[in-house]
Amino acid sequence: MSIIPSAVLTTTQIIGGLVASAKNALDLAKASSDHALKGAISELYDSMLDVKGRVLDLDEENRALRVALDEKGKYVGPVTPHGYYFQAGDNEHPLCPRCFQEKPQRIAFMTEPENWNNGVRRKCKLCGNYIYEKPMVLNSVGRHPTNGGSWMV
Ligand SMILES: [Zn+2]
Repeated sequence: MSIIPSAVLTTTQIIGGLVASAKNALDLAKASSDHALKGAISELYDSMLDVKGRVLDLDEENRALRVALDEKGKYVGPVTPHGYYFQAGDNEHPLCPRCFQEKPQRIAFMTEPENWNNGVRRKCKLCGNYIYEKPMVLNSVGRHPTNGGSWMV
């Protein structure tokens, strides 16, 4: 029996202690002539090994989720009306929503606002995605005023 309070033991230490106890019981039972007892303790030991594997998997999954949760707290968004993400505490420098939602995620800043055809846009410094914060104003025939009608700018 350990003198360390169980609250300060890690999950791995606790399960390791349980498996060691089960192994000890298994070793003691080997000297017994009671076959039912041997079988029951052997089964208990095997089950403990299964539980250990499952607990270690869950422990690793939990650790990964904590890392992801910490990472999520570093950013805010999507923020209306343009869907930008921001680093927590920085409302001045938007991040590209397309890059932010990529798998794997990329953190990319947008350029400063740029006047464009009577609208205002920013461009992602990484993927080149444009976001119009104020729409372009097209001429009377509905064509792009500067490049003969193409929407590809
Ligand atoms: Zn981007």
